[in-house]
Amino acid sequence: MNIQCKNRSVRHLRAGRFLITLLAVTLATACTPANHGQEPVHISGEAQGTYYSVIYYDSLQRNLQPQIDSLLDAFDQSASLWVDSSLLRRINAGETDTLDDILKFLLENSMRIMDYTDGAFDIRVGGLVQTWGFSFKERTEPDSATLAHLLCAAHGTLGNNNYHFYRENNDTELDFNAIAQGYASDLVANFLDGQDITSYLVDIGGEVVSRGVKSDGSPWRVGIERPSENRYSEPVVQTAIALQDQSVVTSGSYRKYYERDGVKYSHTIDPSTGRPVTHSLLSASVVESMGWLADAMATAYMVMGLEKGKAFIATHPNGPGTEAVYFIYDSCGTLKSYATPGFEKMIIKE
Ligand code: ADP
Ligand code: MG
Repeated sequence: MNIQCKNRSVRHLRAGRFLITLLAVTLATACTPANHGQEPVHISGEAQGTYYSVIYYDSLQRNLQPQIDSLLDAFDQSASLWVDSSLLRRINAGETDTLDDILKFLLENSMRIMDYTDGAFDIRVGGLVQTWGFSFKERTEPDSATLAHLLCAAHGTLGNNNYHFYRENNDTELDFNAIAQGYASDLVANFLDGQDITSYLVDIGGEVVSRGVKSDGSPWRVGIERPSENRYSEPVVQTAIALQDQSVVTSGSYRKYYERDGVKYSHTIDPSTGRPVTHSLLSASVVESMGWLADAMATAYMVMGLEKGKAFIATHPNGPGTEAVYFIYDSCGTLKSYATPGFEKMIIKE
């Protein structure tokens, strides 16, 4: 592997620089004398094969990068599928059944969302994701017997008993990639909370968690990317939203896919068929209280597609996942968006 992994990293880093630039411009205009001379601290680096950027106001102007780097590294050692000695890789391989706090959280909360989304979001897709070439293995076209075997493994019962993982089918492989960046952002946010920092913006690969307001009293401003023509296009901000004490996460089909006979196969797997999703929804962005939850719901909407996603929101008015924006090409190839009323209110009109 890792041509795929490297591409992912370079692309995200480019996207990251863009977002960082956008935020830097915003912050530069916000840092007026009204903020009592406080300058934001801005740190950035790489984690989970992508970029990260953290901006916070700290009267002590501490550089918390070493602690954040080691926190993100510990996260990768636990939940990353790209680190071949990670605890998750060892659990999938059957070498251990003992979970740590990170995997316990991810497992238990993922199981709640699997239930809530009627299986659209499903962490048991690990074997399928690998076979279709969206993980650490090269893509192989599964024949019907292989697909049936993988689907069977993806439908086996899971459980957790006092940090001991249980799976009915030993071939069931867990994949937390759909919530890993969102949850890692939450963990960085928790760390900053513990440092008595009350205003920050954490962004890991575009999965953003915010707290408080900027030093001029205005909310954080976050760009939502316009779905691009293809994976190589430079990111362009389609719309900006105001964020305060919330998270926003986007899942998309327009960068991670492969193309065959003119059809794009996205890295999102429909757990009911075991196949990559091919419908025309380009992206789903969700605003939620927590990064992991926004991340899980954004992936679920990418499985559901536009109409089912809209119907889901209508039938689950108390959430989670009620504030979202979807981007889609209509039958004439024109980019269209659909935003829920609450999401619409967050959009900054200039
Ligand atoms: P992105 O934000 O990069 O668009 P997502 O958050 O939607 O991505 O996560 C996609 C990843 O989640 C896939 O690469 C795969 O590892 C995993 N995945 C694919 N399909 C599903 C699914 N139906 N439920 C949960 N995880 C999935
Ligand atoms: Mg996701």
